[in-house]
Amino acid sequence: MTSGPVLRATGRCVDLAREVGNSRALRDFVKREIMPTALTSAAMDNFIRDGVTTIWHQSCTTKMGQDGMSVVDSRLKVYGVDRLRIADASVMPRIPLANTMAPSVIIGEQASRAIARERRL
Ligand SMILES: Cc1cc2nc3c(=O)[nH]c(=O)nc-3n(C[C@H](O)[C@H](O)[C@H](O)COP(=O)(O)OP(=O)(O)OC[C@H]3O[C@@H](n4cnc5c(N)ncnc54)[C@H](O)[C@@H]3O)c2cc1C
Repeated sequence: MTSGPVLRATGRCVDLAREVGNSRALRDFVKREIMPTALTSAAMDNFIRDGVTTIWHQSCTTKMGQDGMSVVDSRLKVYGVDRLRIADASVMPRIPLANTMAPSVIIGEQASRAIARERRL
């Protein structure tokens, strides 16, 4: 967020939100813009940097896959370590476009099924 495409894209999102919020169509519902209001480019960058926060979807740190960065295989087994699986949001290869709780539950269910199948439980 120091500079570059992510900061610029976020700035465009803020511009768009301001445009919608200040539009004639919403005039009856809006008293006034409270923030950020019309700022200089540098002040807007600071506003974005100060306001940006995580949406709590930390994931993908032990991704499933086959490339050099992958940590687990499709059965969630850790490459190179016997008898160790990972079954949580960290195995997601990419952050999903939707929320992460439900996919995490499915990952857990898939892990328990794989273990039951292999152990003939
Ligand atoms: C504030 C917040 C709001 C969220 N809101 C939503 C939402 O609205 N919708 C949505 O879909 N997702 C939401 N998420 C994301 C969702 O909660 C996570 O993606 C999901 O819980 C990930 O599941 P997980 O099993 O990977 O990890 P976790 O749910 O974090 O489970 C990890 C578990 O391991 C335990 N643990 C950690 N260390 C140890 C240890 N050494 N020994 C034993 N146990 C240990 C922890 O106590 C915890 O119970 C939110 C997350 C946060 C933080």
